[in-house]
Amino acid sequence: MPDFQESSKEQTIRAYLHYFAETEIRPRSLEADRMADIQPDFYSVLDRAGISTEMMPRDPGSRPAQTGDAPREHQTLRTAVLASEELSWGDASFMLSLPGPGLGGPPVSFIGTPEQRERFFAVFQDRGRPHFGAYALTEPEAGSDVAGIRTRCEEVEGGFRITGTKTFITNGSRADWVVVFATLDPELGRAGHRTFVVERGREGFSVGRRHHKLGLRASDTAELVFQDCFVPEENLLGGRRHYERQQSKEGFKVAMATFDSTRPLVAAMAVGIARAAAERARELIRDRYMLGRALPRYRAILEGLDDMDRRVRAARLLTWKSAYLADARQPQSRAASMAKAYAGGQAVQICREALELTADSGEEPDPLLEKWFRDIRVFDLFEGTAQVQRLVVARRLFDEIGAKVGL
Ligand SMILES: Cc1cc2nc3c(=O)[nH]c(=O)nc-3n(C[C@H](O)[C@H](O)[C@H](O)COP(=O)(O)OP(=O)(O)OC[C@H]3O[C@@H](n4cnc5c(N)ncnc54)[C@H](O)[C@@H]3O)c2cc1C
Repeated sequence: MPDFQESSKEQTIRAYLHYFAETEIRPRSLEADRMADIQPDFYSVLDRAGISTEMMPRDPGSRPAQTGDAPREHQTLRTAVLASEELSWGDASFMLSLPGPGLGGPPVSFIGTPEQRERFFAVFQDRGRPHFGAYALTEPEAGSDVAGIRTRCEEVEGGFRITGTKTFITNGSRADWVVVFATLDPELGRAGHRTFVVERGREGFSVGRRHHKLGLRASDTAELVFQDCFVPEENLLGGRRHYERQQSKEGFKVAMATFDSTRPLVAAMAVGIARAAAERARELIRDRYMLGRALPRYRAILEGLDDMDRRVRAARLLTWKSAYLADARQPQSRAASMAKAYAGGQAVQICREALELTADSGEEPDPLLEKWFRDIRVFDLFEGTAQVQRLVVARRLFDEIGAKVGL
């Protein structure tokens, strides 16, 4: 069973990141939202504070399990979800904008050859400027239906030519390299999928528009365009042999495996925003009460605050459980989807309730609560929509029932 007691090291990390979020992220948050960008000075502050996605494990669960094999504490997914919650409490756009391989990291770790891992991760050792990786799966006509991607990869001498458009790619416009999912032939379904790393600057690879968003406005989300973009054989992730087995679905599997390790991080981001909104509502209501303003609905408001707090804690427990299973190298797709669906859904409701509870008719809403209300909307959508998470959970449930009755 998961140990829900934070170790003293975890407590120190949480306290340090909370202080950083409070003093360096929150004060920049509203301005960054207005500019739809992160203030450039933030990256030197981040570097001095020694915070990067290196705190996050690149490859949770990817090493073969060994008896008594405890992951190093700073590399556990559990530490990462703790960091994700604290930094998102400050501002989730800043959390998404941390330098590092980001969502592109897990596929390179999962199936990259030793040479590819070394080559693609080397750039993050350079501290001269922030470096980013990205993960490009979504297309204008293929979001939830990831098997329906249409970006083509055509085999040519020495490598492949990629043609297609990817959309809504986090850190897409500034990434040093992007993990791109493409198909040899859509008719082949999942067996036709191949995964590449495409470096910025390759001929035929360009950044399209940067998406204008309702929330998480300061995070970079871009369209990427590939037009006959040549990538050498060495950039096929895992090498040709990885896909050689007949009807191999390896290209597709790595896309899904990425989500198993990143959904707990996204759930933790939602917990961080929901916690921030619940705390802010408490503060505003306390100040109004202390100032003696009439609060005829006071009892109902207190119950509302208590209810929010309870749901934040429940969402955190589900998130921790999925991280615990990943660290213990146990199957956790279902737990990760459950945590993501629950935390995302509850956080959307909590941010709405916080805004409603604190609204005085005729007054402007609190700017932070208004911002989080916009930011949280996407948590029901990206890395798999709430409906899709429920399908994953339901399928696993039926698998279990089937196993019990011997189907
Ligand atoms: C801020 C942001 C960052 C993102 N970052 C990335 C990134 O870095 N890389 C990347 O590849 N993508 C990224 N995405 C894309 C994101 O993962 C997709 O938006 C998401 O998968 C949903 O796809 P869609 O928008 O095409 O919606 P659709 O798939 O068209 O879904 C529309 C609606 O239909 C429902 N639906 C669809 N299929 C089913 C089904 N089978 N059963 C029941 N309901 C269903 C959905 O739940 C949803 O409500 C990002 C998106 C945003 C907004």
